[in-house]
Amino acid sequence: MSDPAWDYELFWKEALNQIQQDVSAQEFEMWFRNMVYHSSRENEIVVNVPSSFYRDQVAQRYLSRMETILYELSGHRMALTFDVQPRAQSRTQPRAVADSSAEHGDPDKGGKAIPPASPSTRRPPRSRQAPHPNLNTDYIFERFVIGENNSFAANAALAISKNPGTAYNPCLIYGGVGLGKTHLLQAIGNEAYSGNAELKVSYVTAETFTNEFILSIGEKTSHRFKNKYRSVDILLIDDFHFPPGKRQTQEELFHTFNALHDANKQLIFTCDRPVSELRDLTDRLKSRFGMGLNVDLQPPEYETRIAILNKKIQEKGAHVPTEVVELVGRNVQTNVRDLERALTKLLAYAELVNQEINIDIAQRQLQDYFANPGQRNVSTERIQRVVAEYFNLSHGDMRGKKRTKAIAFPRQIAMYITREMTELSTTEIGANYGGRDHTTVMHACQRIEDRMKTDPTLEPTIRQLIRSIRSEGG
Ligand code: ADP
Ligand code: MG
Repeated sequence: MSDPAWDYELFWKEALNQIQQDVSAQEFEMWFRNMVYHSSRENEIVVNVPSSFYRDQVAQRYLSRMETILYELSGHRMALTFDVQPRAQSRTQPRAVADSSAEHGDPDKGGKAIPPASPSTRRPPRSRQAPHPNLNTDYIFERFVIGENNSFAANAALAISKNPGTAYNPCLIYGGVGLGKTHLLQAIGNEAYSGNAELKVSYVTAETFTNEFILSIGEKTSHRFKNKYRSVDILLIDDFHFPPGKRQTQEELFHTFNALHDANKQLIFTCDRPVSELRDLTDRLKSRFGMGLNVDLQPPEYETRIAILNKKIQEKGAHVPTEVVELVGRNVQTNVRDLERALTKLLAYAELVNQEINIDIAQRQLQDYFANPGQRNVSTERIQRVVAEYFNLSHGDMRGKKRTKAIAFPRQIAMYITREMTELSTTEIGANYGGRDHTTVMHACQRIEDRMKTDPTLEPTIRQLIRSIRSEGG
C-alpha cells in the first residue's frame, strides 16, 4: 500500500516531462505512455507497466536516466520500481476540477489556474473561517495562472499545502523579481490554513526572521525565539537572498532549521537565485537546502502572459479588446508584476478619459513598458556591471587579473553572456576583459556550456542575468 507520508507523484510527473524533452516523440509514445504511477514508499516510486517484456526493456533503456532525473529533482537517491500489471490502472482518478468554466483561467489560452485542493485526508474538513491574520488573501491558488514557466513550482506548492511536513521538506522556490514567489508562498499558507484553522502558519521575511533571531541571542531569550517558531506547523520564509553575514549566526540558524525539520514542521523559502549561488551561505546550510525540493519560476511565455492578463481583466470586471491584450502580452515580457502594472495603467487611463482603450491609446500609454527594438547590442560594460553586482564583486574584478574561483567563474559567465548578447568577436571580447586572448574567451564559453549540462541551476541564472541586462536602461 502507498504510505501517505511519501507522495512522490509530483517528482514522477516532472521526470516524465523532462524525459519527454530528451527522447523522440515516437520513443516517448512507445515506452512512457503506458507507464502508470502507482504509489510511493520511502525513497521509492512504484510505477505500473503492462508486461515483463516491457519492464525489462524500459529498465534497460531508461532506468538509470530516470533515476538520475529523480535524484536531481528531489535531492536524494530514489529507486524506481516497475511493477507488472497487465491492465495497468491508475491508483487515483484524475483530480476533479471543481469548476471548468472560465473562473479558473481561460482554457483556450494555455495557462490555467489551479482548482482548489481537496482537503487532506489527515485534516478535518474545510470550514469557512476568518482569513489568516498575516497572509494576504489575494494570494491564493485560484488566482495563480499556471503555464509551462511555473507549473512544477505551482504543483509542488499545492502538494505541500495538502500535506505539509512530509515529502517536500524543506522547499525552496526561486526566481527573478515579480514572478510569483510571494504569491505561491502565501498561497500555501492560505490553502493549508483554510483547510484546517488549527494549523499554525507563520509568514516572515528572511530579514525579519534573522533580526528576531539575532536579537534573541543578544538578549539571551533564544529559548523564546525557539518556542515561538518550533510551535508552528508551516514556516514560510520570504526573500532568503540575504543570509545573515556571521558564520556563528548561520550555524545557529542551521540548528533551528534542523530542529524544525526533525519535528516535521514544513519549511518553505523563496529566494531570487538558487542556493548554490548564494555566496555568503555556509556549506552546511546549502546542503540542508540541497536535501529538499528546489523549484524555479521562469518568466511566463506568450500564451501564459495572455492568460494572466485575461484572468486579471476578468477579476476586475473590466473589458479590454483582444487586440490590446495581445499587444500588451507581446510587448511586456519581463515578469507578471510588470504585466499587472501595464494593465492597471491602461484601466486607470480608460476610467479617467471615460473611453474604451484601443491600440493607439495602449501604444501611447505603455511606451515605457515596451522594449525598445533599436537597443539590440548592449555594451560589454553593462554586462560586466550586472554580472559583477549579482555575484557581489566589483566591476574591476571582471577585467582584472585575479583568478580565484570566486572571480573566475562569474567572469566566465560574463564572457559567455557577452558572446550571446553582442556581435563582438572573441578577440574583441578578450580585449574588453583585461586584454585576454581569444582562446581564453572560447574556453570560458565552452566551460559554461559544459557546466550547464551538469548543473541545472546555471541556465536559469544566466537567463535571469540576461533579462536584467536587457531591462536595465531599456
Ligand atoms: P515575487 O515575490 O516573485 O517578486 P509576487 O509573488 O509578488 O512576485 O508577484 C507579483 C505580482 O504578480 C503579484 O501581484 C502576483 O499576484 C502576480 N502574479 C505572479 N505570478 C502570477 C500568476 N502565475 N498568476 C497570476 N498572478 C501572478
Ligand atoms: Mg516577493
